[in-house]
Amino acid sequence: MVGRKPYKIATLGSHSALQILKGAKDEGFETIVVATPNRVSLYRRFNFIDKIIEIPTFSDFAKIEKKLIEEKAILIPHGSFVAYLGLKEHKKMNVHYFGNKAVLDWESDRLKQREWLEKANVPVPRKFAKANEIDRPVLVKSYGASGGEGYFFAKNKQEYKQKIKNFKPKKFIIQEYVIGVSAYIHYFYSPLTKKLEVLSIDRRYESNVDSLGRIPSHNQQGLGIEPSFVVVGNSPLVLRESLLADAFEMGERTITASKKLMTGGLWGPFCLEAIITPNQEFFVIEISCRIVAGTNLFINGSPYASLYYQKDVSTGRRIAMEIKKAIKEKSTEKILN
Ligand code: AMP
Ligand code: AMP
Repeated sequence: MVGRKPYKIATLGSHSALQILKGAKDEGFETIVVATPNRVSLYRRFNFIDKIIEIPTFSDFAKIEKKLIEEKAILIPHGSFVAYLGLKEHKKMNVHYFGNKAVLDWESDRLKQREWLEKANVPVPRKFAKANEIDRPVLVKSYGASGGEGYFFAKNKQEYKQKIKNFKPKKFIIQEYVIGVSAYIHYFYSPLTKKLEVLSIDRRYESNVDSLGRIPSHNQQGLGIEPSFVVVGNSPLVLRESLLADAFEMGERTITASKKLMTGGLWGPFCLEAIITPNQEFFVIEISCRIVAGTNLFINGSPYASLYYQKDVSTGRRIAMEIKKAIKEKSTEKILN
């Protein structure tokens, strides 16, 4: 392309940056990572990263934004964007951005998330407005909490009333605790082809809930162990094939509902975080509207991605493939914000 500057792919140095940039390089893009000083030496180790832009802290992002615009970078958001930049900063960015920022307001508010999922006819756990309504085990979640911190479990109304006395956050929700196994389904929706793919699935590994079963309950008695849900890792999962149809349909309904609720709707990678009960019913506890960390298990592809592609396709690489296609078809306006 004589005289035309090629797009580059950039992201913040954390979360799933390695996957995103490896995928971008595999698709032929030049790559940029924006990193804080403590992470620079990490990102220097990898030759698929062409440039490192150093910033003192992620909150200094605005200062280097002009540089990214000059580079004609497309920024790929991941789990650290809202966590480190804050919602306002995130929305304000002027650099090319892969995804629809209109979904951010829906995603960042637990009540709006629920409204979206309900509109999509995706089953969600029951919510209790008042303590007196509690008739089953519940999980109490503070609004800003992420990664399972700031939660508490109560097995019934009495326990809830006891524990809420020492719970500091003022804004929280009381949700039915769904007893089952978790499955975090990693989707990709293409606004170019209007097709939805399931690229991979993980389950989270959470401390301490995922290890409580190692100690028999009679040995736990008297220890006063409280379940906590702090994510420390992820492991891969394939679903029983008969459950896959539900997984696809829930994803499709989520996309259809998004088009009604927000201008442009949701596109690109997203994740439905589900608990599956012994009746093989899914309950979705959360939606993440971007690449999630569990996709890092699949940098060299996944059993599901292999069903669509003859090459190793991670979610990071799938993003780059979509950008490449949009550039080729001169329809980048369909994928960038
Ligand atoms: P970090 O770069 O580890 O500080 O993570 C940035 C954000 O992503 C935080 O909000 C974490 O809670 C979230 N996060 C990091 N790793 C994972 C993971 N393996 N699964 C789910 N969330 C994660
Ligand atoms: P979240 O921050 O909403 O992704 O939740 C963190 C973890 O808490 C999840 O990965 C689950 O293990 C657990 N969890 C959250 N909500 C529920 C629920 N309603 N029922 C059972 N477990 C839940």
